[in-house]
Amino acid sequence: MHLGKLCKYAKDCSVYKNENNNIKKPIFLVRNVFCNRGPKGWNNCKRFLLYEKGEDVPDNMTPQG
Ligand code: SF4
Repeated sequence: MHLGKLCKYAKDCSVYKNENNNIKKPIFLVRNVFCNRGPKGWNNCKRFLLYEKGEDVPDNMTPQG
């Protein structure tokens, strides 16, 4: 486990929780590319950037938008 690299929004995020039907790839891949990768991954995630701005993040939005 690399807790320091887990996105701080993971517990609220439909993608991380695997509750987002627009994610077509295996969830472990998505988590490894974005959520568990530290700032490098998070900053590529459009959901993360919205969370950081304090804006509403639609449940069906993917890391790509
Ligand atoms: S990196 Fe993106 S998809 Fe992953 S938990 Fe954070 S906001 Fe959700």
